[in-house]
Amino acid sequence: MDSKSLYARALALMPGGVNSPLRACKYVNAEPVFIENAKGAYLWDVEGRKYIDYVFSWGPLLLGHQDPAVNAAAHEAVDHGSSYGAPCLGEVLLAEEISRIIPSMEMMRMVSSGTEATMSALRLARGYTGRNKFVKFIGNYHGHADAFLAAAGSAAGTVPGTPGVPEEVISHTLLAQYNDLDAVRKHFETSGDEIACVIVEPCAGNMGLVLPKEGFLQGLRDLCTQYGAVLIFDEVITGFRLAPGGAQERYGITPDLTTLGKIIGGGFPVGCYGGKREIMEHMAPVGGVFQAGTLSGNPVAMAAGLATLKRLQECDYPALEAKTKALTDELAAILRAKGKPVYVAQAGSAFTLYFSDAPVTNMAESGRCDQTTFGIYWKQMMAQGIYLAPAGFECAFTSFAHSDEDFEKTLAAARAVEF
Ligand code: PLP
Repeated sequence: MDSKSLYARALALMPGGVNSPLRACKYVNAEPVFIENAKGAYLWDVEGRKYIDYVFSWGPLLLGHQDPAVNAAAHEAVDHGSSYGAPCLGEVLLAEEISRIIPSMEMMRMVSSGTEATMSALRLARGYTGRNKFVKFIGNYHGHADAFLAAAGSAAGTVPGTPGVPEEVISHTLLAQYNDLDAVRKHFETSGDEIACVIVEPCAGNMGLVLPKEGFLQGLRDLCTQYGAVLIFDEVITGFRLAPGGAQERYGITPDLTTLGKIIGGGFPVGCYGGKREIMEHMAPVGGVFQAGTLSGNPVAMAAGLATLKRLQECDYPALEAKTKALTDELAAILRAKGKPVYVAQAGSAFTLYFSDAPVTNMAESGRCDQTTFGIYWKQMMAQGIYLAPAGFECAFTSFAHSDEDFEKTLAAARAVEF
């Protein structure tokens, strides 16, 4: 078995040969490798090649692959049945744990993906306020529900327009550049009584990593409070990554609603939205806003998620952040020494190396980075067993499974790259 022939078979059956567009590696002008196994910080492809992973399934696996406690919890859960479609202990335990660590999530609802979480949070904000419009930031990605596809980040940003989404749907989405508080203020000044919510990645991860400027999140908080709009932090990436309590803990700003996914499922399909009791009680069956799911609160995902959150409590976040900073500083120095301008963004265990001589604070600036150079870098790093996201507009993740030796090997690979 080899990746090339599997890809040919996949192309015959799946658009682009993949089940999610980025995996096709089009943005680096390459073909995907097919993965067969993963453990700790490593992936092995179907041809037995080993990679040091910096993608970790796009974020869920902060503990690395097959953490023994998470594996054991999932196995045990499966032995009690894979799905009940009925309330179970695991969902109560996970909700209690999330609420304890992220106190703004007084109540919550489990769903099966980040997309479901953001889509439902938007519906709830609209149902709660009786308003239709909402503010979203250019280059933020909140999953693939219709309303969020306007100027979305990640692979969605590479598709021209939003085919398949009615104009009327998009017309309720008010756009602003990330970090541009004045643009948001203007939307409120013109349509304040029509705006249901502002949704934001409190530290953006889908146009590369982009940090919030000082005062940006507080400004959003103040505007939402002033105009009676709901502030939604999309913490699908940042939750339990930037700090145990996510970006809201790290930056000290409390949203009304939070969306989670990725890490809270320990590698199983999961999402979650929650926040103020007063708002959450508008959800059916207590209130009239509807949302449901066959696999919501799935016992295997709940068990893996709970085991993950428990394990993370033993982990040293500041130490991982410091190691990640040392890694990214050195990577940048290596690439600069080769004559390539590099701007590094890093927060906690997430980072992006932009091939750019200017800072990146929004999508417009991210879009100006040199993707051709990134493609050259990506191909040579992959060839040396360093697995990076196949697009320059994604962030990379370190994990508690990486060793110092893994980072040393990564640096050695970067030193060998030729432009
Ligand atoms: N929100 C953010 C910030 C994300 O990064 C993603 C996915 O990467 C989503 C929402 C959607 O999550 P999912 O892919 O689980 O639907």
